[in-house]
Amino acid sequence: MLNEDKRQEMAAVREGILLVVSAPSGAGKTTLCRRLIDIFPDLYHSVSFTTRPRREGEQDGVDYHFVDVAAFCQMIEQNAFVEWAQVHDNYYGTARQTLDEARQSGRDLLLEIDVQGAAQLKKQQVTGAYVFIAPPSLTELEKRLRLRNTDSDEVIRRRIANARGELEQAAWYDYLIVNDHLEEAALALQGIVRAQRCRTSLVLSRHQAAWLTR
Ligand code: 5GP
Repeated sequence: MLNEDKRQEMAAVREGILLVVSAPSGAGKTTLCRRLIDIFPDLYHSVSFTTRPRREGEQDGVDYHFVDVAAFCQMIEQNAFVEWAQVHDNYYGTARQTLDEARQSGRDLLLEIDVQGAAQLKKQQVTGAYVFIAPPSLTELEKRLRLRNTDSDEVIRRRIANARGELEQAAWYDYLIVNDHLEEAALALQGIVRAQRCRTSLVLSRHQAAWLTR
């Protein structure tokens, strides 16, 4: 039988899941991730640091931590990012602290980051489910970007060109969801979270103490 100290020690190594989600702009990643948080409110959406200007409706500390280039570069020098990348002329990064805190507390974490950042995490062998969300075709992607009505022709052309490169990266991700039908894609993403939560090591870390004591 385990004593209380042992039980607490085992509870302290409770594992969380890490979901790393990437997609070309316009593939529906933000919508799918929002839906995911609605279904799993205990999945914590990491708040990245960025140098891009705040868009209307965005809140500092909620959507991003908005910082200037000097502050971002200082964080790079201090090794404060677990990954960072330049995307569409701006810098984006995930604080090492966010990942460490999630690990220590066993909190489930969602990172919505670009392919360069995801590749850096994979290279560091950060354990998690790496999910790529793809549009059914580049024609459909262009249609969606035009429907959004937020970008100029030039920006849309650049996003499509970037998408080609990003889609080439899809092959190394653990999961690839083609967002043809939103409902189906949302269910697929939820399925990944449910499966990750059933990983043996994670379930053991959460229940072993209770199973070994009575
Ligand atoms: P947006 O400016 O539209 O919010 O994001 C542009 C791109 O930057 C998206 O692909 C988004 O996933 C990515 N991004 C957001 N935060 C991070 C981050 O912390 N690291 C990396 N590598 N990419 C990020």
